Amino acid sequence: MLATPWEQRKSAYDFIIIGSGYGGAITAAHLATADLHPKPSICILERGREWQPGDYPETIPGVLGATRSSVNPLGLYELLNYNDISVIKGSGLGGTSLINANVAILPDREVFEQLSWPGAITYDALLPYYQHASQVLAANPHPRALQLAKVQALERRAKELGTSVQALNIVVNFTIDGQNPYGVAQKPCIDCGNCVSGCNVGAKNTLYMNFLPLARNAGDVVTFSALALISSGPLDSGAPSDPALTHGGINPQRMDRTRLVGSSSGSSWRRTTVVMVVVGATL
Ligand SMILES: Cc1cc2nc3c(=O)[nH]c(=O)nc-3n(C[C@H](O)[C@H](O)[C@H](O)COP(=O)(O)OP(=O)(O)OC[C@H]3O[C@@H](n4cnc5c(N)ncnc54)[C@H](O)[C@@H]3O)c2cc1C
Repeated sequence: MLATPWEQRKSAYDFIIIGSGYGGAITAAHLATADLHPKPSICILERGREWQPGDYPETIPGVLGATRSSVNPLGLYELLNYNDISVIKGSGLGGTSLINANVAILPDREVFEQLSWPGAITYDALLPYYQHASQVLAANPHPRALQLAKVQALERRAKELGTSVQALNIVVNFTIDGQNPYGVAQKPCIDCGNCVSGCNVGAKNTLYMNFLPLARNAGDVVTFSALALISSGPLDSGAPSDPALTHGGINPQRMDRTRLVGSSSGSSWRRTTVVMVVVGATL
């Protein structure tokens, strides 16, 4: 189990990260491994539950039963329909990494050169971070890609069009049968194709397999699952105040986000807010 029982929470943290998808998990790992003294205490609040290999549904009724809704707030698959767009998201410890299609490729340099792109965010500035993420997620092409019937079909069509297919990097384990570098047991991929409903083999390199345990192993990090931040009214300073939490989507609770800070002489104490609330989720 990666998540900490709610009863073991502290009353205050230096950083509270909301959401445990790529945004939240990678932020937690960077904070936990940063050269900071003292090490900050970090808490990840995830509204979804913990899903382990073997837990994921493999039938249509099973998938429907695990769909997130107001009556099933701990459901894994969330489908949001708006007038002009529909969105599928994952809700669980590891975010949408639990149900995505594993493809991990770098954006083309040209994307960053479009006029509409903010000039301060350059390809070269981001490249080391993409490379680090690819390394931790263990992004590689499928070693037997050309033996897969679907790739052979694509190859035939590509040839007709005068081109060829190329196997892209995917974050799937094909080699480890045992503990991975982050201490999580994994199995090699068996080509079952269930990546997007959730990997019951333990081969998919979701955040549950890498960045989340990396963060926990590196520092003072706790991960509360099945907890959602449901409101964050801003203070004058702009910091959110008194975040209201729901636990398991059922019992609203509050987390004390203030802490006592002493002066250098230790003679006076005042209450202060946690250093930062990092939002890795759309609230
Ligand atoms: C079917 C599918 C296939 C995909 N395939 C690919 C692919 O092959 N390659 C690729 O690069 N991308 C793919 N994506 C997209 C990719 O997974 C997302 O872009 C990525 O997960 C976004 O990361 P994130 O951290 O922004 O959000 P998420 O991963 O969605 O994480 C947000 C987290 O915040 C939690 N949360 C939300 N609100 C609250 C709250 N109030 N309190 C507490 N927690 C909260 C959510 O439960 C969730 O765990 C795919 C997506 C889907 C749906």
